[in-house]
Amino acid sequence: MSLVGQLYKLQQLDLELQRKQQELDGIESQLSDDTSLVAAESKLALQKERLEDGRKKQRSAEWELEDLQEKVRHIDSKLYGGKTKDPKELVNLEKEVKSLKSQIKPKEDALLGLMSQVEELEAEVRRSTEEVRQLKQEWEQRRVTLEQRKREVEAVLAKLKEDRNGLRQQIVPEVLNTYERLKLTKGQAVVKVERGKCQGCHVTVSTSQWQKVKAGDLIQCSSCSRILYLE
Ligand SMILES: [Zn+2]
Repeated sequence: MSLVGQLYKLQQLDLELQRKQQELDGIESQLSDDTSLVAAESKLALQKERLEDGRKKQRSAEWELEDLQEKVRHIDSKLYGGKTKDPKELVNLEKEVKSLKSQIKPKEDALLGLMSQVEELEAEVRRSTEEVRQLKQEWEQRRVTLEQRKREVEAVLAKLKEDRNGLRQQIVPEVLNTYERLKLTKGQAVVKVERGKCQGCHVTVSTSQWQKVKAGDLIQCSSCSRILYLE
């Protein structure tokens, strides 16, 4: 292979390396992006907190109601148990039990409200749990596929780097420097000559230059300085 041929090959390897590196970066960024799962998990955690809170409120409402019912039973047993004979005390007890009984209905209503809230929250938690489960499953599948692809791309990259380094060792440092400098400033260091024109700047290559290029000499375009290559 001529020196220019080697440089052209080096350029192809560099371009392929760049493409594979971009692909690898893309895979890695996808692998670190589990935002929808994280969002679903934090939503679920919040709903569970609200459910726990709702259950606590329900329990304390139940206790308050039981307490009230217990007080009513206690006074009822005094009223109808026959132990209390004092009419004044009986009147007071009647008043007290009436007041207590009037509190029962609102407390029952409040409790029913809390119970239905808890039921709604339970349904929400069930839905979100299922959502998280699905997202986890999807994420896991995607992760496995991405990890697999990542390993493949890494292997290709390693091979490309090996090939590139091997090729670079065959090229003298001054030429490599020219190549690197052109790559940096022009994007593409080596360009083909097609129909007598430099494919970097589309200026016609002189006959004498063309002949040198054909002979395999390292010739830079007189217009754009890129290294000319003829297949
Ligand atoms: Zn040119």
